[in-house]
Amino acid sequence: MEGEPGAPVGGDGDAPLRLLLALQDADTSADQLAYRRGHLPEQAALDLVRSRLAEMDRARGGVAAERAALSVREEELERETAALVARSAAIDERSRSGSAGSYRDQQAMAAEIETLDRRRAELEEVELGVLEAAEPLDAELARIDAERAPLAAERAVLEAEVGAAAASLEVEVAETAARRAPLAARVPAPLLAEYETLRRRLGGVGVARLVRGACEGCHLALPATEVDRLHRAAVGEVAHCEQCGRILVP
Ligand SMILES: [Zn+2]
Repeated sequence: MEGEPGAPVGGDGDAPLRLLLALQDADTSADQLAYRRGHLPEQAALDLVRSRLAEMDRARGGVAAERAALSVREEELERETAALVARSAAIDERSRSGSAGSYRDQQAMAAEIETLDRRRAELEEVELGVLEAAEPLDAELARIDAERAPLAAERAVLEAEVGAAAASLEVEVAETAARRAPLAARVPAPLLAEYETLRRRLGGVGVARLVRGACEGCHLALPATEVDRLHRAAVGEVAHCEQCGRILVP
């Protein structure tokens, strides 16, 4: 690129280069909008809240599983107790009805009821232990739920904010695209192609103004002789910055 003059673009003076600068402005705006869309502060806050909620849900899941296992154990104990009670009642009934008449039978039944009562007392102890183990788990679940609720509300608010911010950016993106299209249509095709190539290669900036002897693309000052040559170049001639290679508009 070395600052050599490119092909003259002809036509009405330097209009194509002015168009190209306007096109660059529109493209820069579009790039900035895309960047803003990808870096919404609301989105960053939302991501943070979401990850905290996910962490909380994982912790809650572990505690809930432990609590559920205790509930299952509680039900088993209750069923076993109910069976013991039923068996005791049946023996008691038989004993009272006198159907088992002998003293020996009565003794055997009394002994069984005693065994059943002992077993019931044991089960009650175990059940008490289960209930005691459940208490801190229930407290932990309640604590997590209390902490989770405001965070879930915050997530809803942030989701709405992200949606609103994105929608407003979408409007600007559409406006920028509408501004760009007629400009691109008026820039001569070879110049447009070169601009696009330079833009891809040089961080989105393919054309720059020459301001006070410096290229606005790379911000480096050009040698005075080069500046002088650019200012005296034929109108419409396409020049390049000898430092960065961008199309340079004096
Ligand atoms: Zn430059």
